[in-house]
This record gives sequence, structure tokens and C-alpha cells, in this order.
Amino acid sequence: MRERCKGALPLADTDATFDDFLPEALRFRSPAPLVDIGANLTHDSFARDLEAVVQRSRAANVTTLIVTGTDLAHAEQAVALAQRFPGVYATAGVHPHDASRWDTDLAAGMAELHRRPEVVAVGECGLDFNRNFSTPAEQEHAFEAQLGLAAESGKPLFIHERDAGRRMREMLKTWRDDIADAVVHCFTADRDTLHGYLDLDLHIGLTGWICDERRGHHLRELVKEIPLERLMVETDCPYLLPRDLPAKLKGRRNEPALLPWIVREIAHWRSNDEAELGRATSETAIRFFRLPLNGEPQDNGRPPQES
Ligand SMILES: [Zn+2]
Repeated sequence: MRERCKGALPLADTDATFDDFLPEALRFRSPAPLVDIGANLTHDSFARDLEAVVQRSRAANVTTLIVTGTDLAHAEQAVALAQRFPGVYATAGVHPHDASRWDTDLAAGMAELHRRPEVVAVGECGLDFNRNFSTPAEQEHAFEAQLGLAAESGKPLFIHERDAGRRMREMLKTWRDDIADAVVHCFTADRDTLHGYLDLDLHIGLTGWICDERRGHHLRELVKEIPLERLMVETDCPYLLPRDLPAKLKGRRNEPALLPWIVREIAHWRSNDEAELGRATSETAIRFFRLPLNGEPQDNGRPPQES
């Protein structure tokens, strides 16, 4: 898989343990239960020790994981993970890199996945004019179709945008009244783009990009401008390992257990209390993705015949 992003909580933690993979200095524990809204756990690098990765996330008090589905096969795998692990949910979409593969069969497969209760968002989908693995025209076509699927299913959108802020805002503006909610995940853009998104009543997902001393500087200033109730947090693992971790990690694979470090960093630059920020982002994620609270499933989307 290509690098993507350059690019209440149900689990008990009493028997959670770390295994030997994470050095002692990287075994964080969040003071508040966290929701990692972007975990690419279907990536090959997790195939060997997925069970341990989920256990370590619980030990770190990262109690809920939203597994990103970036194409049909990975979205189906994400659903399988959601069935296997409590506190794990899936998204289903086609990443802009793979937009050239969009066709009616794929659209039908996606629509079917969006009807599943394990799928809590449409995406990852969007526009990436940074690398153009699919042409801009193909990306816009696939994204437009997925905006339509989000409108039909009533489920929120999980959006990827890179170097396409202006076109993204134009397209979202047209659809904004038809879609329930949307989060721009792994936000790394500038102030104008941020406020454009906030004006469209969107949510913002922040990753460990902010921990990068080479390119995260502008974000350190900007994060203060995101209203607390619009902010969610994510690792985007296995990508975007925070660069300022207090110990070296063999293999340099990011994982959900490292989310507390990212939250601590965001809290620092926002002058928030870490626990308060953690609690707020989890409440927002539970509301945004309509996650079950205390075991009670919430209404997740509406049947397509209603509008
Ligand atoms: Zn992404």
C-alpha cells in the first residue's frame, strides 16, 4: 500500500498488557479514554501482531479505534476487524490515489458496505493533488460519487485532502446541506484552508504531523484556532510516527498506543489540559461517528429510502 497521508468506551483495561514491542519509554497511558479516528490496521505491517497492537492500545487507554478502509478489499478487512474486536469500527471508501479504479461495480460494493452497522463513515475519500496517482479529473469523479453515497447513507464523511484545499471547499460547499457531517483527517494545510473548513461546519482530525519539527511548525500556531468541539485525534498508523518520541522505535511503525503522545503535544500547543483535551476529542468522536455508548447502539445513518 502506498503511503497515505503525506498523508463511554467499551473496552475493559484490567487485563491489558504491553508486550515487548514498545520500549518502556513509549508505554504511555492517556488520563482519558481516547478514540483513534484514523488507524490503518489492515496494512500489511500489522498482519503479524495485530492482537498485540490492539492490546497495547487498550493498555494506553486508547479504547476505540476507527479502522480506515481505503478501497474495497481493505474496507472489507476493516469490517472483519470490527467484528473481531470490541471497540473497533470501520470506514469504507476509495482513497483519491485509487480514484482511477472507480466504476459502477465499485460504487455498488461501497454502497453495500455503507449499510453495515460496523461501518461508521464513508471514506477515506477526497482529493490529493500533491502526487496525482489518479488524475485530478478521476479524483473529482470518485469523490463526487462518494459524496452522493454519504448523502444517501446519512453517514459522515472521512476526508483526505492534500494540496487541493480550494477545490475541496468548492465541492463540499455544493454538497454541504446534503451530507450529515465531515472530518478532514490528517489536517496539514494553512490558516485560510482551516477557516474555510470551519466555516463549512466541518471537523478537523490531527495526527502526529504536529510532532514534526521540520514541517509541523505552522500547525503549532493553528491548532489553537480549532474549536475544541470540532477537533478529533488520530495516529494515521502505520504512517506518521511522531518524530519527537522519547525513545527510538524499531521498525518505525506508528500504532494506536502512541496516540497519547500526540494528544499531549496538541494539548501543549493549545494550552489545554491533556485529560480535558482527551475527553473532549472522545466525546466529539462518539457523537460524530454515532458510536455505541454504554453498549446501546445509536442510530447510525438512515435507510436510503428516507431523505
Ligand atoms: Zn489520508
